[in-house]
Amino acid sequence: MGPHSLFTHRTLRYLPASTNRRTQPMPDTHRIKSGQQVDIATLPTSGKDIHGDKKAAKAEFHALREEFVGLQKALYAEGKRKLLLVFQAMDAGGKDGTIRAILEGVNPQGVRVESFKAPSKEELAHDFLWRIHKVVPGKGKITVFNRSHYEDVLVVRVDNIVPESVWRPRFRMLNDFEHLLAANGTRILKFFLHISKDEQRRRLQERVDVPEKNWKFSIDDLEKRKQWDTYMAAYKDVLEQCSTEDAPWHVIPSDQNWYRNLTIMRTVVAALKDMNPQYPSLDYDPAGIKVE
Ligand code: ATP
Ligand code: MG
Repeated sequence: MGPHSLFTHRTLRYLPASTNRRTQPMPDTHRIKSGQQVDIATLPTSGKDIHGDKKAAKAEFHALREEFVGLQKALYAEGKRKLLLVFQAMDAGGKDGTIRAILEGVNPQGVRVESFKAPSKEELAHDFLWRIHKVVPGKGKITVFNRSHYEDVLVVRVDNIVPESVWRPRFRMLNDFEHLLAANGTRILKFFLHISKDEQRRRLQERVDVPEKNWKFSIDDLEKRKQWDTYMAAYKDVLEQCSTEDAPWHVIPSDQNWYRNLTIMRTVVAALKDMNPQYPSLDYDPAGIKVE
């Protein structure tokens, strides 16, 4: 652990909460404000210019993840509120790697990862939120979405799976749905892992070239890559229309895994600290009990 990160960490932990928030603007750095115009092409994909110290970033990430593990325990023990993390990205954007990195060491009882593929026949027979609503987190739980309800205004739109008259009204439905979840005690954080088109080329080529990575590649990825600009236009609408107080979007520069992981972890830990989960008060006096 580098001296820099240790210092940052200690400092943050022992400062009063209000100061803490001012000296750590990072959790919000990549947040899209409600109603903000978004020009995806100008949003950074690289974190190098924002945080130059990879070693310190990794050390801080590990310290934050320990904090996350502790906060998750408390959330689970409290058993009242819920946390939903949503991940969207272009192919090879790093969803799998991010999820693996942030959940390492967390009590598996309290977390779930839900991955959304092309809908089944049964799912298609219902409204687009049916399969989503079934798997949102219950009390005390954390659920991570690998792809999400947003596919229904992304791939569905880009591939013309349904007409605009069907997908356009979904922005409003997405906001209403998330509002419902928030009103029922769910903190929602949404992350778009933003990589450059060139970084995607590099990663896809690596999947072809490295035998152990071959399984991650599909010919379909090349078709999707050709649709890059159309996807960016669809993402722009998602970010502009669906970043709300209840469920903000964050556009994370994701060309470097270390910057991506750190920034997401900071955002998640800040949200959990703000939720401030409490261990339940006891209905007995532990001092008076001796187990025979
Ligand atoms: P990833 O590429 O995220 O690592 P994967 O390779 O494990 O995932 P894929 O089968 O490539 O799995 O990805 C799932 C596919 O399902 C994606 O192409 C995605 O666009 C598609 N999909 C997800 N939700 C929907 C939906 N609602 N309608 C149509 N297609 C969808
Ligand atoms: Mg894929």
